Amino acid sequence: MTTSHYIAGRWVEGQGSDCISVNDPALGLPFAEMMAASVAQVDQAVAAAREALPSWKNLGAATRAAFLRGFAEQLGQRREALIALQMRNNGKPRHEAEIDLDDAIATFAYYAELAEQLPEKNREVPLAAPGFTARTRLEPVGVVGLIVPWNFPLVTSAWKLAPALAAGCTVVLKPSEVTPLIEQAYGQIADALGLPAGVLNIVNGKAETGAALSSHNGLDKLSFTGSNSVGSQVMRSASAQCRPVTLELGGKSAIVVFDDCDVDQAVEWIVAGITWNAGQMCSATSRLLVQDGIADALLPRLQQALEKLRVGNPSSEEVDMGPLTSQAQWLKVASYFATAREEGLQCLAGGKALDREGWFVSPTLYADVPVDSRLWTEEIFGPVLCARRFSTEAQAIAEANDSRFGLVATVCSADLERAERVADALEVGHVWINSVQAVFVETSWGGTKGSGIGRELGPWGLSGYLSVKHVTRCMG
Ligand code: NAD
Repeated sequence: MTTSHYIAGRWVEGQGSDCISVNDPALGLPFAEMMAASVAQVDQAVAAAREALPSWKNLGAATRAAFLRGFAEQLGQRREALIALQMRNNGKPRHEAEIDLDDAIATFAYYAELAEQLPEKNREVPLAAPGFTARTRLEPVGVVGLIVPWNFPLVTSAWKLAPALAAGCTVVLKPSEVTPLIEQAYGQIADALGLPAGVLNIVNGKAETGAALSSHNGLDKLSFTGSNSVGSQVMRSASAQCRPVTLELGGKSAIVVFDDCDVDQAVEWIVAGITWNAGQMCSATSRLLVQDGIADALLPRLQQALEKLRVGNPSSEEVDMGPLTSQAQWLKVASYFATAREEGLQCLAGGKALDREGWFVSPTLYADVPVDSRLWTEEIFGPVLCARRFSTEAQAIAEANDSRFGLVATVCSADLERAERVADALEVGHVWINSVQAVFVETSWGGTKGSGIGRELGPWGLSGYLSVKHVTRCMG
């Protein structure tokens, strides 16, 4: 049983009614338990954040930046433990767990710099009107609730915590009940750095805890990353109080491969885009659009590449892909395999759960998937790739855009002019040209259409936690 909630600068036992079981997905077995926070504890966390707000926001950007640098350093000091925990609780291969940690470190370091630049942004505004002057003042939004999923726990939380703290907000973070131990590190670091009590609070729990936080009337903003179904509930809570909300939701993203590509290179990009984190990525490029001229050469190579991947327990074997992170996700992916069989889809690789302990599935490829197939239109969140052929650039763009989601896309072509043109035409928040899943802290993250509202990362991520005020004076 783990003490699991960090409220007002103290670690406390959960007083909720849910017991959270923390699992090793490679074994399908629990290795820790914790009691969820009660609704009263969520109240305490929000109250602590409210109390801490005035002094934190007035502390000065340079001091806040020093704390953020401290977070980056302390994450580095916990390197081995955090890598091991992600491998054990998420089922991530070591190299992926390392990259997640490095991403989180880079995020805190980046927002430390942006925090230092904040005072310069408070400046006089030139006005055309005679007799008036005005100045801009950027202020923190206030107390912010942060609700995150389980697929990239260190990273997703860093993308919210770092800009929120840089802006001068105080926060209540609710990690996912699937991976509740990983973000404990942020509370431990707050302790180690002497972060003022209440600036960062962490409450763990399931839907009840999330709902208590997202509907809490003590928040000034909510930032949510997760599924569309929960996102719409969170948005309803926000609308009841006319409160700003950032939503990072699901995706069903396209990877478009033109026939001037090197086949082996294209296969590498396609495989990475669907098997990284066992395909449990909002940004998984799960719809492959491949041009007629290269399809017959590419699909068999892709099949071989997927079948060659080493799938296993990252804690005990050298692997390319680990298990799915939860039993619920494993059952969900298996249900899509059943749907594919019912729909009569042509399976070129995988299409089944692995016959071994733990929550493993094989990397999967379906070919010539109809556009009305559930596998083509719905987010599966596993290593399941659906392919279709196209002949013209216009057809590729139309099919890629024919989705209720709009998170990311990848364009693979030796013709860079064409790749740029296609990138401009795609209705998504982020496009990769001849690369895959490369996310840099200076660029934005977020989607169009059903993939969400708002942007994280870069200066846009910081803006999401800032309120713009103008002071206009009549000079008489
Ligand atoms: P989820 O929506 O089930 O849960 C997300 C978080 O919301 C968890 O902390 C959960 O406990 C909490 N929650 C559950 N019910 C709630 C409620 N009624 N009110 C408030 N909070 C509640 O999502 P998940 O299964 O953890 O994550 C997978 C989803 O997240 C996928 O759809 C994926 O695409 C999406 N995702 C999006 C991004 C992005 O940046 N766009 C990144 C990662 C994951």
